[in-house]
Amino acid sequence: IGVGHGARCGHGDAGSLAAPEPSLAKCEWQKKLTPEQFHVTREKGTEPPFSGIHLNNKEPGMYHCVCCDGPLFSSEKKYWSGTGWPSFSEAHGTAGADESNTGILRRLDTSLGAARTEVVCKQCEAHLGHVFPDGPGPNGQRFCINSVALKFKPSKH
Ligand SMILES: [Zn+2]
Repeated sequence: IGVGHGARCGHGDAGSLAAPEPSLAKCEWQKKLTPEQFHVTREKGTEPPFSGIHLNNKEPGMYHCVCCDGPLFSSEKKYWSGTGWPSFSEAHGTAGADESNTGILRRLDTSLGAARTEVVCKQCEAHLGHVFPDGPGPNGQRFCINSVALKFKPSKH
């Protein structure tokens, strides 16, 4: 098998002086992820509502980043929001209102003309979804997360 200069992975994309390089080059993510996973996590896509595999999942366990496997959300904080996407009242590791020990970061997103708060994976910058201030928990947060961006690991009994 020829390995070598045929690969188009390099960092030679002239003209893209975008944000800091994610931990893998674009085409490496494309190889690692399904087209849906790639679109949502690396191109800030959104899965169709009520389509996600984790929407109705009530099993206890942890939801991990589909890209880097970091733990992001616990089933304990998952709830049915009626929006069509898996919803969580807080990220795993949240202490009070402090999210410094979670696996997520918040970013301002103005892409639809309205200011929303994007949620990305702290480790690999995967786009996960958005967070809105109308949730049920003590902090009133609703993390609206794409199933496609998550990998569920049931807790061991
Ligand atoms: Zn990640």
